[in-house]
Amino acid sequence: MLPKCPSCKNSLQFTQLRYRDPFPCPLCSQLLYIPHAYTVARTWAILLISAAGLYFIGLRGYSLVLGAILAWVPALILDAILVRAFFPPIIRTDKNITSNFTTLNL
Ligand SMILES: [Zn+2]
Repeated sequence: MLPKCPSCKNSLQFTQLRYRDPFPCPLCSQLLYIPHAYTVARTWAILLISAAGLYFIGLRGYSLVLGAILAWVPALILDAILVRAFFPPIIRTDKNITSNFTTLNL
């Protein structure tokens, strides 16, 4: 399942996505972005999932903490390669980037 442009519903290739900066939709040229909070939350969720997996195979205490940290990087790579195909990132249009903190929002 590929992520879609929220503006024109065009499917986006993963190579077209930018996680840090806004990027244009190749079809409608609408500026899109992946919310930073989403990226951070997904990264921490992957740590929790890898810790839970190690807990269920019997690791406890310091070995669980160390194992979860060591398993985090392979889990992130696994997420980037496989899992994102089933759970693509949230994409927003650039007009939502501005917040009440940066503009008067009149
Ligand atoms: Zn589009």
